[in-house]
Amino acid sequence: MSGKIALVTGASRGIGRAIAIELANQGADVVVNFHRNEQEALEVVKEIKNIGRDCIALQADVSSFDEVAKMFEIVKKKFGGINILVNNAGITMDRTLRKMSQEEWGKVIDVNLNSIYNVTKNALPLLQKNSRIINISSVVGMYGNFGQTNYAASKAGIIGFTKSLAKELGKNGITVNAIAPGFIESEMTNKTPFIRRKIIEWMITLKRAGKPEEVAYAAAFLASEDASYITGQVLCVSGGLVI
Ligand code: NDP
Repeated sequence: MSGKIALVTGASRGIGRAIAIELANQGADVVVNFHRNEQEALEVVKEIKNIGRDCIALQADVSSFDEVAKMFEIVKKKFGGINILVNNAGITMDRTLRKMSQEEWGKVIDVNLNSIYNVTKNALPLLQKNSRIINISSVVGMYGNFGQTNYAASKAGIIGFTKSLAKELGKNGITVNAIAPGFIESEMTNKTPFIRRKIIEWMITLKRAGKPEEVAYAAAFLASEDASYITGQVLCVSGGLVI
């Protein structure tokens, strides 16, 4: 991936951080997007610079079209274009639909799904021929989950977006794929109660939670030349949570 520029949203920690570092390990220069956590984002930048790659951190709330547009202005000035876009930023606000407020519904749709429009739309003019777009969905978007109607709807939306955009951009040699992680160790899943966590681990074929790096290896593969004939697909990285 030497000479390639990657932008990863929500790369200050968790899965996004692991993807940013793995792409750098494979030779890409990286733009680390974050929202609130500048300190953690700067630590990722430091780690990537230690690998020997160029890296900057850019703050933008991906649910704001204007903030995202400003971020891409900076990317354009510094790098000219990008080759790899990873739409990773995401949140949960779990509650059964009966108890879910309009705000909890809207916020999750804004950050997880409207962001995909905001980021990808602004990235399009900068995407070079044979670029890669990788959207982080979830197995919950395919199979549903109790207490996650908002999250599941946003992640299912990402899959529809991925398949449609793949059809639109195929003629430019740009591939668009999604990854559907299962239960991965991160701040997002740290809040899962102990008993529920044990039940989920028991349901996973490999009998353990995944590591962010295990999602990152899949993203790096889809971003690589080796994945040049794969587009419009959803790759489950779930340890066999669903088969
Ligand atoms: P974390 O909560 O650990 O990290 C989320 C990242 O998203 C942070 O870097 C955070 O940045 C960023 N972020 C949140 N809101 C915004 C925003 N409005 N604008 C820009 N960045 C934002 O989550 P994970 O690493 O676990 O999840 C990453 C992705 O993987 C998400 O899309 C999630 O839905 C998906 N996923 C995760 C699974 C899991 O088991 N962990 C399973 C399936 C899918 P900051 O702190 O700076 O705000």
